[in-house]
Amino acid sequence: MTKLVILGSTGSIGEQALDVVSASEELSVVALAAGQRWERAVEQARDHGIPAIAIADAGAAAAARDAWNGRVLEGDEGIRELVATSGADLVLNGIVGSAGLGPTVVALSGGIELALANKESLVVGGDLVTALAEATDTRIIPVDSEHSALFQLVNAEPPGTIERLVLTASGGPFRGRTDLAGITPEEALAHPTWDMGGRITIDCATLMNKGFEMIEAHHLFGTPYGRIDVVVHPQSIIHGLVHLNDGASLAHLGYPDMRVPISYALHYPDRADVDVPTLDLATAGELTFGEADLETFACLRLAREAGEAGGTAPCVLNAADEVAVSAFLEGRLPFTAIPEVVERTLDAIPVTVPGHFEDLYAVDAEARERARELIQTAGVAP
Ligand code: NDP
Repeated sequence: MTKLVILGSTGSIGEQALDVVSASEELSVVALAAGQRWERAVEQARDHGIPAIAIADAGAAAAARDAWNGRVLEGDEGIRELVATSGADLVLNGIVGSAGLGPTVVALSGGIELALANKESLVVGGDLVTALAEATDTRIIPVDSEHSALFQLVNAEPPGTIERLVLTASGGPFRGRTDLAGITPEEALAHPTWDMGGRITIDCATLMNKGFEMIEAHHLFGTPYGRIDVVVHPQSIIHGLVHLNDGASLAHLGYPDMRVPISYALHYPDRADVDVPTLDLATAGELTFGEADLETFACLRLAREAGEAGGTAPCVLNAADEVAVSAFLEGRLPFTAIPEVVERTLDAIPVTVPGHFEDLYAVDAEARERARELIQTAGVAP
């Protein structure tokens, strides 16, 4: 039986992870963490007989404590303590944003295996995170569908045979458009193939998410950016592809359903039954492919450039994007200004090489501040 902690349990990944747990006899959840939706977290703890939770928001944690007799920790520190004291074998990190980095560091420091949905841990933490995993000999198993696909393809081949990695992108709701003016949050939140949390859905619409995934793949597989391609594939049936040295190309296919990569990560190296339909190619319809439009979707270009620059650049990229996306969702920033805020924040903050995670937390805070200032200036306000 694997003792599991689910971080971000009230979100899209967290809820689907609990579905996977309900269908599995191999997994026992020992703790949960969420941001502020304490009622749902308490309900999950009751339904699954989970003894301990942590809630990032202090007021919400206090309300949870009043309503429930289990152990309730609070704040970012409480989430880190929950992970450190859980006795877990595996942590699923489904927190959104750079808030996920701290718990990732605690899990890896303690040698607790990590099922990683929180791509920001690798985008922001980069080489420091992979070095920590290596130093503590702790495995990171990707949950992102594209990286789960690549992980399975790469692991099946001997070293030195993979020439290129290909990440597929649905293209989001605005694929094919060259004018993105006037797009509303409702339009941007309507993703054609995946049902996800708000931030990642907007990142899919700007293609920033694919840029983050490129950075994530670079760190997970140690592959240079020049050997990672992105191809637009609107049907989201092929999740990842590798080109091999003998001219063969291998792909990973399936209907888009996050329970598949979540289950894979939670049961690795085994596989468990997942109640999803088997892919039927005869009825799947046409599978189409195309190039990403880097001019209209500047976020993908910015992410690749930040990845190639390395150091603190991806941390700044993510922080500025988090601030810009939340301003867009609150109606304070036009959709087209998201890349502008990100680019101007990247221009304003010099790239340095972080020596420690504290350096990244400081740069994250500085970039957020800068992005907020930019949003308040006439240049990018609606
Ligand atoms: P959601 O917005 O649906 O959920 C986010 C979760 O994080 C919620 O449980 C939320 O709690 C919690 N949370 C937010 N802020 C904090 C904080 N400061 N401290 C602790 N917990 C916090 O996001 P998703 O589930 O869609 O995405 C989660 C992560 O997984 C992201 O990094 C995303 O990129 C990645 N991912 C998601 C996919 C998907 O299909 N959804 C696919 C691949 C990757 P509360 O609800 O209480 O606010």
